[in-house]
Amino acid sequence: MDAFDSIVDLAAAVRTGDRSAVSLAEDCLARVGGDPLNAFLDLDREDVLARAAAVDAKREAGETLGPLAGVPVAIKDNLSVTGRPLTCASRILEGYTPPFDADVVERLVAADAVPFGKTNLDEFAMGASGENSAFGPTINPWGENRSPGGSSSGSAAAVGGRLVPAALGSDTGGSIRQPAAFCGCVGVKPTYGRVSRYGLVAFASSLDQIGPFAGSVAEAAALLQVICGHDKRDTTSVDVEVPDLSAGLRDGVKGLKVGVVEGFGLDGLDAGVTGAVAEAERVLIDAGAAVEHVPLENVSEAVAVYYVVAPCEASGNLARFDGVHYGRRAELPAGGTLEDLYLRSRGEGFGDEVKRRIMVGTFALSSGYYDAYYKTALKVRRKIAEDFDRAFAKYDLLISPVTPKPAFPIAAEFEDPLEMYLDDIFSIGANLAGLPAMSVPVGLATAFGGGDELPVGVQVIAPRFEEARLLRGGQVLEDAFGRLPSPGGK
Ligand code: GLN
Repeated sequence: MDAFDSIVDLAAAVRTGDRSAVSLAEDCLARVGGDPLNAFLDLDREDVLARAAAVDAKREAGETLGPLAGVPVAIKDNLSVTGRPLTCASRILEGYTPPFDADVVERLVAADAVPFGKTNLDEFAMGASGENSAFGPTINPWGENRSPGGSSSGSAAAVGGRLVPAALGSDTGGSIRQPAAFCGCVGVKPTYGRVSRYGLVAFASSLDQIGPFAGSVAEAAALLQVICGHDKRDTTSVDVEVPDLSAGLRDGVKGLKVGVVEGFGLDGLDAGVTGAVAEAERVLIDAGAAVEHVPLENVSEAVAVYYVVAPCEASGNLARFDGVHYGRRAELPAGGTLEDLYLRSRGEGFGDEVKRRIMVGTFALSSGYYDAYYKTALKVRRKIAEDFDRAFAKYDLLISPVTPKPAFPIAAEFEDPLEMYLDDIFSIGANLAGLPAMSVPVGLATAFGGGDELPVGVQVIAPRFEEARLLRGGQVLEDAFGRLPSPGGK
């Protein structure tokens, strides 16, 4: 599939009338076709074309169009879009259609973007392979037997596979950055509180953030610019100014201090991954940065902490799916009680991984275990955040791998679900500490001594609310490594 023009250029063309929003939407609908990647859970042709036609009509009426005029943006299906089914890839939400837009969707529409379908994900954003969807796995555009990563599997596959130029995902422990790395696109997790979570179905509320997927750093910056900003409806949304994220994009890293994070305590990284980070280091030095290795003392505990904190929060957040308030309600035999209704609806509606997390979380929060598990996890979370704060007192940016290896095969080696949890080791720290972080594609693993013709990303991490600096670092990598070829070589 051909690459898209930059969304910045596409929007400019729609604003001047050189290109219609409808023609852009039609192009994307044709690219998706019968959706062989299973990237979309809802894609209604009429809905998309009507939204695009409304943008064109606005221009024809003489109105000035917004910064994303006519740009199709696919939306992860844990975000509310008025009138479109919201499933979180779970049977328990079957039949639920929200009556409101998420804050990020409102902002997209206000910028004249075109929300383009709802994308597949791991159920309730729990997973790292895209296989925990009740509606079948998503396929990686780089190989039909490869996982696109998760949980934002559909958004990453749609952008990496060049079906749409941009998408939104959510990232609780890596769910934007890991699939972006697997599918060869840019993925950004903003600072916690930078983007409103209003209208995002909560998984682990103290970790969840919404962020962009795009084909390049500049495009991710343009999309991020639109979705950032204070929102009273999310009490964790922070009221700080959003700087122009594109203005200093090409200012480079000359004079900056960059730390290469160490201390994850994980052996057996793919040669393509270690090679990519070593090359990134060289690129940053060549660009004038001072690069040093920085061991973080507690970061090796990040996975253990996350898999207590996230399930604890999830067990509370998912209590609302009870067969009464939303979605699917189980059939009850005569004489069934309200408790039977809850048990059956939840038993039939949730998949295995979601049940596992609810059980772990409920257990860890229960009387007698709360101090041993939850409180201890919170203490170590604080220590990890302090490690990052200390590092950022010395360094302007940090880099690390995104994942231990490139895209693993579908139905892979994960007989034991705990094994997949380790795939998040590099990404979780930024969520625990609330930091902005991104994955930048740097090439195919083979270029760095790895065995597979699959994309590899490098992670860049910045201090809180320093997205502009984060993107600047990403831009240096993108400029040096160049853009990826098309998946499938076309
Ligand atoms: N893979 C992690 C998990 O399974 C992260 C998910 C996410 O960021 N939503 O929880």
